Amino acid sequence: MTGPSQPRSTPRSQPSVSEVCDDLGRFIDASPSPYHAVATAADRLVAAGFVELVETAAWEPVDRGFVRRGGGLVAWAAPATATPAMPLRVIGAHTDSPNLRLKPQPDSGAVGIAQLGVEVYGGALLNSWLDRDLGLSGRIALAVDDGEVIERLVLIDRPVARVAQLAIHLDREVNERGLVLDRQRHLAPMWAEGSAEPGTFRAWIASELGVEAEGIGGWDLMFHDLSPARRIGVDECWLAAPRIDNLASCHAGLEAMVRAGGSADRVAVLALFDHEEVGSMSATGAQGALLPTVLARWNDAAGGRPDDLHRALAASVCISADGAHATHPNHVDRHEPDHRVVLNGGPVIKRNSNERYATTSLGQAIAVEACRAAGVPHQVFVSRTDLACGSTIGPITAAQLGITTVDMGLAQLSMHSARELCGARDPAMLAATLTAFLRL
Ligand code: ZN
Repeated sequence: MTGPSQPRSTPRSQPSVSEVCDDLGRFIDASPSPYHAVATAADRLVAAGFVELVETAAWEPVDRGFVRRGGGLVAWAAPATATPAMPLRVIGAHTDSPNLRLKPQPDSGAVGIAQLGVEVYGGALLNSWLDRDLGLSGRIALAVDDGEVIERLVLIDRPVARVAQLAIHLDREVNERGLVLDRQRHLAPMWAEGSAEPGTFRAWIASELGVEAEGIGGWDLMFHDLSPARRIGVDECWLAAPRIDNLASCHAGLEAMVRAGGSADRVAVLALFDHEEVGSMSATGAQGALLPTVLARWNDAAGGRPDDLHRALAASVCISADGAHATHPNHVDRHEPDHRVVLNGGPVIKRNSNERYATTSLGQAIAVEACRAAGVPHQVFVSRTDLACGSTIGPITAAQLGITTVDMGLAQLSMHSARELCGARDPAMLAATLTAFLRL
């Protein structure tokens, strides 16, 4: 994997625990959609000397490079001593989070209020989207003069919409019976006074972007809560923010790549996938060909044979970084009593004997070593035996590449809420652990 040497960033001093947390908050605020998360990640990689390659072009060998595809991105960093069969250290994470997404013909409404039709993306906690001031982000596809279609990022970072909650006077038993929301009837945000004429939204978004309404071929647009990430608790020991699952892992993986990518006799790889929250089966998801294709092309560009890549993979390890459930103080009985997970207790290694998580005993030991090398504590999560376990990209990546994989991540509460919660000291510990992993 040798190639022309790329410009390296000037070494920077290790940021403090507090600086890493605040930087994660800025990363999240700048990344309301998966496409923005990729754009933010790409900016950081370029600033650190990584070179962007384009998928439609022939590839030259590049030591520190990346490609992006929609809401997905794969970056790599090879040391100067790299050979085609050098083992990989792969960090995987996902850029998407559950939310409300705009329908193709969104204009609807009632009683003189214009509303926007939405679909629910992923396993959102629907109640968490009520009574929030919502912005809009994502991308549109535009036809330009010569019939070519281009994509453009969209960010409306002001409160243009809101899903209003029903007053308790009109639903007296809601606190006893529990809130029941019908996805079709109860989630459409209100966004304007007046009637909901077809084409109203299209005309508005076109004027916001300064483009012709007829030129907009389609959109992938979603709502986001405008409240910025902020430290909370009397001593600011926690971070409250949207999309901690899983931008916290994307952020830690980027930190590790910038700090340690290519600094040991390992090829560091960062894979940020889209569509984890809906099963990962897409052109940019972990079940797709994105990561295997990039690895194969990069091996080709470096003059390696297919067998070299297979030899490299046989000695490679992946950490699939994703959120872990901290033990909830108000719902302790929902958690496994002998595997308590605390906020600010260090990275959480996730185990499940039914392969909902990919971690094996060997993978667990490697993750423990990474924590030890980083000088941070670790925790181990397993679900209650009588509760179904969630899953993530770990088992998918393990199956796609056939390599030892560890599922681990940052402890959090309120997973899949529009506003989640994690420890303020955990982001630095996860970044340090992933940095140490790239050097193992
Ligand atoms: Zn996740």
